[in-house]
Amino acid sequence: MPELQHATWGELLLDAVAKPGRMLEAYTAFHNYSFGNALLALEQCVRRSLQPGPLNTYRGWLERKRQVRKGEKGITLCMPMRFKRGAQPDSVEGEATESDTSQTVYAFRFRAYWFVLAQTEGEEAFVQPIPGFDIDSALRVLNVTRTPFDEMNGNIQGFASGREIAVSPVAALPHKTTFHEIAHIVLGHTTTEKLVDGEQTARHIREVEAESVALICCETLGLDGAEFCRGYIQHWLKTEKEIPNHSAARIFAAATSILKAGAPTAGGQ
Ligand SMILES: [Zn+2]
Repeated sequence: MPELQHATWGELLLDAVAKPGRMLEAYTAFHNYSFGNALLALEQCVRRSLQPGPLNTYRGWLERKRQVRKGEKGITLCMPMRFKRGAQPDSVEGEATESDTSQTVYAFRFRAYWFVLAQTEGEEAFVQPIPGFDIDSALRVLNVTRTPFDEMNGNIQGFASGREIAVSPVAALPHKTTFHEIAHIVLGHTTTEKLVDGEQTARHIREVEAESVALICCETLGLDGAEFCRGYIQHWLKTEKEIPNHSAARIFAAATSILKAGAPTAGGQ
């Protein structure tokens, strides 16, 4: 079966930056999937005029006593698949991974195995509550600690160093800065250097990555700062170039782990 055409991570991110509300819509409908997959699913629903909503596989819906309607085409998501070493059946599409200790290789592939609620029928009603978010739980699960803010420069909003963050007590948008600093750590930016964020922070791709994660977190959680992040990223895109695909993949992965870390059930897993 030929695979349906799907958008790249970079395209999905740019689209969501350009359209306020997209990220919230994707999170509301598909929050139990990774953020990249949530945007990917939403893009297909919009294109195919399907009501965005809970996703499951054909078999998963059967288990929930719902039947996928005849003739419905699957929604494509990116999923990890296991291959025997040296026997990869098709071209590499997703972000590659490794884990090849025992002759088994994991790699990400795009597969159309999912269906939204609107493509199914059945008696059982299906409600999917949106998880809450607690910043202190997120910090604990991510092994990030707050450290006192000791910068004297009044322009500095926050910084991240190792596994520690600090946000200025007079930061303009404390939530936004908090997510931005956590993002630097989750993205692996702080393993070698301390990152100090002022008003004149260099427009490096690292900053766009952290700010994009902050945008996703602020917008999906309905917190102040999303518009500021959006403006920053759009300005960067005008003066620099594009956000590379691999950066977009990293942004989605980091945002997913932060959002999951702050959801009430994450602590016990
Ligand atoms: Zn920064």
